[in-house]
Amino acid sequence: MNSTAKFIILLGPPGAGKGTQAKILHQRFGMVHVASGDLFRENIAKQTPLGVLAKSFMDKGELVPDDVTVRMVMERIAKPDCARGVVFDGFPRTDAQAQALDAALARENKKIGAVLWVNVRDQELVARLSARWICSLDGAVYNLITNPPRVAGKCDLDDSSLVQRDDDKPAAVQRRLQVFNNQTKPLLEYYRAAGLVHEIQGEQPIDRVQADIVRVAEKL
Ligand code: ADP
Ligand code: ADP
Repeated sequence: MNSTAKFIILLGPPGAGKGTQAKILHQRFGMVHVASGDLFRENIAKQTPLGVLAKSFMDKGELVPDDVTVRMVMERIAKPDCARGVVFDGFPRTDAQAQALDAALARENKKIGAVLWVNVRDQELVARLSARWICSLDGAVYNLITNPPRVAGKCDLDDSSLVQRDDDKPAAVQRRLQVFNNQTKPLLEYYRAAGLVHEIQGEQPIDRVQADIVRVAEKL
């Protein structure tokens, strides 16, 4: 992929494979991966005030309020590495967040190049989330059924133990799917109006999804 700055949003429900795909884009092409959920989890691990606040919403499957979320992501994208472009994963999730992102990029004469709508049916999402395990150290994502680690319970990259996310328990999963449909899915219309949406068939093997994403990204 060429080196012009690309700002790409992976938009899709919880479990669609956004984090998996963004991490591969980072490994293969060095694209900077900005995942609001990962930023919150880092704050929770360090027990910062933001982490304590965020956890109270995340455990219930609710969205963290826009003001704190936007501030955290804006601080991240102000760092020099992001000038080369970013893959956004899990952000924006509301209209207010999308508008804040557009405004911040416009101030730097930049804009979103593409919104990749990763489409996966609800029953598949529930199955994926109930079998998702992540590395306790670096957040690498595995799946007990579709994408298992080489050694059971251990991260392939650093041998740390794998854990299940508190919000991947069934009650929170149902709420997160509702929240996605009510608050995040409407963003598709916002970005369709700007002509930015490309649909990616998310129910394919991980490498096929990656190939479809790269095909779109290469044209930007
Ligand atoms: P998201 O970031 O969209 O919530 P993840 O990347 O964490 O999604 O993936 C959710 C779960 O599904 C993980 O356990 C992951 O290993 C698995 N997964 C990701 N992509 C695929 C795929 N194309 N097919 C099957 N399972 C997948
Ligand atoms: P997933 O892709 O599986 O939904 P994430 O790691 O992106 O998981 O998000 C986990 C939780 O973190 C969300 O359910 C929500 O509570 C919080 N969160 C992450 N990103 C945002 C955001 N952009 N706005 C508000 N809350 C967020």
